[in-house]
Amino acid sequence: MTLELQGIGVSRGIAIGKAHILFHNQPDVREYLIPAFEIEQEVDRLLNATEKAREQLMEIRKHIPANAPTDVTSFIDTHILMLNDSSLTTVPSDMIRSRRCNAEWALQLQRDALINVFNEMDDPYLRTRRDDVDHVVNRIHRILADEQVADHEISDGRLKGHIIIAEDLTPADTVLMQHQGIAAFVTEHGGTTSHTTILARSLGIPAIVGIESVRRYIQDNELLIIDGELGTVIAGADQKTINEYQQRLFKFKQHIASLSRYKSQITQTKDNKSIKLLANAELPDDIKMISNAGAEGIGLYRTEFLYMNRSSPPEEEEQLAAYRDVVESIDAPVTIRTFDLGADKTVDGGRNIGQTATNPALGLRAIRLCLSQPNMFRTQLRAILRASAFGKVKIMFPMISTQQELLQTQTQLRNCKEELTREGLDFDPYIETGVMIEIPASAVCAEMFAKQVDFLSIGTNDLIQYTLAIDRIDDQVNYLYDPLHPAVLRLIYMTLQAGSKHDITVSMCGEMAGDPRFTRLLLAMGLDTFSMHPNAILEIKQIINETDLSKLPENALQVLNLSDPFETEALLQKINSRN
Ligand code: PEP
Ligand code: MG
Repeated sequence: MTLELQGIGVSRGIAIGKAHILFHNQPDVREYLIPAFEIEQEVDRLLNATEKAREQLMEIRKHIPANAPTDVTSFIDTHILMLNDSSLTTVPSDMIRSRRCNAEWALQLQRDALINVFNEMDDPYLRTRRDDVDHVVNRIHRILADEQVADHEISDGRLKGHIIIAEDLTPADTVLMQHQGIAAFVTEHGGTTSHTTILARSLGIPAIVGIESVRRYIQDNELLIIDGELGTVIAGADQKTINEYQQRLFKFKQHIASLSRYKSQITQTKDNKSIKLLANAELPDDIKMISNAGAEGIGLYRTEFLYMNRSSPPEEEEQLAAYRDVVESIDAPVTIRTFDLGADKTVDGGRNIGQTATNPALGLRAIRLCLSQPNMFRTQLRAILRASAFGKVKIMFPMISTQQELLQTQTQLRNCKEELTREGLDFDPYIETGVMIEIPASAVCAEMFAKQVDFLSIGTNDLIQYTLAIDRIDDQVNYLYDPLHPAVLRLIYMTLQAGSKHDITVSMCGEMAGDPRFTRLLLAMGLDTFSMHPNAILEIKQIINETDLSKLPENALQVLNLSDPFETEALLQKINSRN
């Protein structure tokens, strides 16, 4: 009998393989009293276990493939750093001494205290990071219980070609399993933004999350089919279905392999419209990927990384060095976005600014924060301007919503230019400036901004969030996050029209720009500059180069007026069918 289970497809790809069910349950933690003369021994037991957990993670870190994106390493590093932190060493050690309790219990109490703090945080991104605490504490608990099953099970080579079925997976598990050549994984927990999910996408492992009690329905070693895009798990499939999926898998692999030939091709539709494909970069290491991906420049350089893992913002010279590195390593324009801290991007170097807002996404973030911290903003503007002496740089401002904000920003920039001139420091006096269109108000008034800047860039991640009033990282309302909502499409279209009327470039740098489902629709709407994760560039280039704009359905833009999602989907399919 065929069983089909539906979850959330978080990393696309087809996999066919035998199930391997992981049952590493939470260790059973009990409390007991330690005799006074054994207290220090118990503290040592805890610290040795913590050290061993650290060593295990350092070992796992070595298995990260050299070409893996930086976030793979940084997720493991986060766990290593946590193991060095006094909250998991000194605090539970002191508890063992004061309560005379066993190491497991002290660790559990500290885990509960930390989880409570995370639960109370307003910032939803940080709230979701309680998973990290659990993953790290579980690893120590397993060592204390002398149960290293998980890593052994994961790393002994038995998993090659298997589909892993687990309650949850840690980033470390994911790295080890990828090293073992697993075909896919399915978990009971996890959401689209969990670290494990992001890792799966970066490492190219098909993955499905959120199938409650999946381990009860699937048997060890039974043959499964996974569709990581649709989120379906099929068990007990008949031969016809297996053959069908084998063909799809074959085609998917062929498709990925065939993309490399697009690297050296120019990006142009069949009817000769030139399109610009730019890359989004988040971390200095992304730059390596960009040169390989065939991008014509950087359309969004997120600078928030400079403010991470530190207690004070970076100084001008440090920022200049970072920007200069990028500008000099890529022979194409680099669009540097001023810091977009706040809300989902609250990081140490900017965390203590302002009060905690009830709705951080609607609070003091992005340009609002820049303008409320003139010194911090000035430091960044000076550094970006100075970097423009070393190559082509553009400046982009996030989340501008009013004329006043734009004027204040331009005044700040002008002041910085005057200062640098007085100081005899070089910069490009004609540096181009642009604003991100991320708020419905800005899209509606895009013309007002188009008259005053050199370019606009549509940030669909936020534009969708604000248009549909859906927190982009809240798993409970993610299902409403719909790039095809007519309101979203109309705002995008208005922005494109405003750009064309005032003859300035409008690019798109949100996730939508790198999603192959929307490429043709966006082309039909007039978008000609896309900026995306470097991994997505070749696939999007293929679609563009195989599109004849004159042959797209004449009613393509009807999508802006359709209220029935089924009709929208049908029209999208028509647009995406071969032409
Ligand atoms: C966006 O909002 O679409 C965008 C590109 O900015 P970020 O994802 O960094 O907020
Ligand atoms: Mg944004």
